[in-house]
Amino acid sequence: IPVADAAFTEGWMRRFAASVRATEAELTALDQRVGDGDFGTNLRSGLDASVRALDRAGPVSPAAAGRAGGPLRTVATVFLDGVGGTSGPLFGLLLTELALAAVGPVLDVAALRAGLTGGLAAVQRVGEARPGDKTLVDALYPACEALRVCPEQVGSRVALAHASRAAWEGVRLTARLRARRGRASYVGERGRGVPDPGAVGVGLLLSSAGGVVTG
Ligand code: ADP
Ligand code: MG
Ligand code: MG
Repeated sequence: IPVADAAFTEGWMRRFAASVRATEAELTALDQRVGDGDFGTNLRSGLDASVRALDRAGPVSPAAAGRAGGPLRTVATVFLDGVGGTSGPLFGLLLTELALAAVGPVLDVAALRAGLTGGLAAVQRVGEARPGDKTLVDALYPACEALRVCPEQVGSRVALAHASRAAWEGVRLTARLRARRGRASYVGERGRGVPDPGAVGVGLLLSSAGGVVTG
């Protein structure tokens, strides 16, 4: 049975990069309506650089395979070192916490829960956004809630599917909100009707995990 090992997390990050490449124009259009239009480029360029870093690291070595978080750490470092916008460092923090939680050879449900919850806490520590402020917290918070009630035995694949579904429901709800944090707060009422770009990014992150593992 395939488990959520380092090969899985590397594939997850590569699928995340591919899904952002495929949706960059839409992400850009969203941030043009509520922000400064750079979100798609920030995320896409960060993930392109991450894929290059994963390529340089080569196939997962037996030693590195001992830690499911290795590839997550690679991507987190790229984001913290040089991805712009508000979202770059926030995605960097989220991925850092996921990587730190995935110290074992397999990213199991407990590690996933600890990583995403730690990521939410880190994002909120830095950005001070609460649920309902129309930020990426509105996707991350419901994903953590879904994992909180998710039994260990279902395995990472099912747990990630639950988290992803909850995140996308959160994304959908951001369209009704008026932003209270970040650049989108400047456009006020005119932003209503537009989903939060960063929340969409979190939705893409979580749905990119899907369909590969049990474990
Ligand atoms: P910038 O506004 O600096 O150009 P980006 O376009 O890269 O940043 O990212 C915008 C996204 O960042 C928003 O859609 C929102 O999800 C997220 N964001 C902005 N401010 C905060 C905050 N204080 N806390 C959490 N997320 C935030
Ligand atoms: Mg922007
Ligand atoms: Mg910007």
